[in-house]
Amino acid sequence: MISYVDYLRLLPKTELHCHFASTMSAELFIELAAKYGVELPTTDPEELFDFADLVDFLVAFRYAHDVLREPSDFERVAYDGVAAAVAEGNLRYREYYVNPQYFADRGLSYPDVIDPIIAGLARAERDFGVGFRVVVAINRRAGAAEAVSLVREMIAHPRPEVVGLGQDDLTPENTEDPGRFVEAYALAREHGFLLTAHVGETDHAIPDAVRVAIEELGCDRLDHGYRIVDDPAIVELARERGIGFAATPLSTTICSGWQIDAAHRIRRMIDAGLAVNVSTDDAMFFRTDIGREYTDGLRLMGVSADEAKQISLNGIDASFCDDEQKARLRAEFRAAFAALDAVLEPVTESA
Ligand SMILES: [Zn+2]
Repeated sequence: MISYVDYLRLLPKTELHCHFASTMSAELFIELAAKYGVELPTTDPEELFDFADLVDFLVAFRYAHDVLREPSDFERVAYDGVAAAVAEGNLRYREYYVNPQYFADRGLSYPDVIDPIIAGLARAERDFGVGFRVVVAINRRAGAAEAVSLVREMIAHPRPEVVGLGQDDLTPENTEDPGRFVEAYALAREHGFLLTAHVGETDHAIPDAVRVAIEELGCDRLDHGYRIVDDPAIVELARERGIGFAATPLSTTICSGWQIDAAHRIRRMIDAGLAVNVSTDDAMFFRTDIGREYTDGLRLMGVSADEAKQISLNGIDASFCDDEQKARLRAEFRAAFAALDAVLEPVTESA
C-alpha cells in the first residue's frame, strides 16, 4: 500500500503553466552563470531564491535569461527539466511559456531560441514519453507594440510545436492590464494560435482582469485567475465558457503571502465548479516541483483523491495539443489511476 502523499506524487500529471527558464535547476543556473560571468547576488541556492513578493521575484526572473546563450544551453535546460519533473512528480505532458525577445539584445533571433528548445524537448519526449507544446509569451513590461511584433515573428516562423500565445512579467506599472494587448491577441487568433493570459493573480490584481481576458482577448484558458472568486458573475461566465485555469498553488505563498489551507482561493475555485488544473509556474525560483504542487499544495487544501484525479484530467482538457494526443493521454492517465487506486492505503483524509 502507498500513502496519500505518495499517491499524489505518483499520479500522472500535465503541466500547462511553466516559464521555460524556470524549469532550470538551481545547480545548472549557478553553473551557467559562472560560465558566462553573470554575477548572482549569492551562489547559495538556499538564499538565491528568497523573494519579498511578485515584483521582487520578477527581477530575478529577468536575470535568469542572461545565462542562456548557446543552443546547447537551451537544449540542456529543456531536456534536464523534463527528466527532473518525471522523477519528482510523474510528469507526462507539459507546455512551456517562452519569449525569444528576452534574448534579442544578445543577437539571438526567434528561431535561435525556439529551435534548440524544441530539439531538447523532442529528445526528452523520445526518452521519457513526455509530450509538449510551446506557447510564446508576451513580455507585458515591453508593451503592446512589442507584443504585436512578437506575434508577427510567430507567424513568420511557423513551427508545429508552437501553438499558442500567453504572457509573462507585469506591465511597467506592475499591473496585469490584459486589455492593453488586444491587438496582439486578435492577430494571433486570426492565425490559428490558441490563447491564454495571466490574470487575477494577486491581491493587487482585480477580478475584472479575468473578465477582460475572457471577453476581450478571447482566451481559451487562463493562468492563475484566483481573484475570480471575488466576483460571482465572472465565475458564472468562466463556467459557461468552460474556461480552464492553470493554477500554481505554491507560488501564491510567495507572490501573495497566502496560506495553503481549505480557505485558499484555489480551493474555492474548485468548490465553485471551475476547471482547475495545477502547475509550478516558476519551479526553480519558488523551490517547488510538479509533485510538490499536489503533495504540499492540493493536499493541504483538503483535495481528495477523486478531486486530484479530476484536476489531473482537467490539465489534458485545457491543453493546446490535438485531440488525438489528448485521447492518448486520457487513456494513459486512467490506466495509471486504476493502478494507484488499487494500492492507496484506506485513510486518505490528510488535510
Ligand atoms: Zn506564470
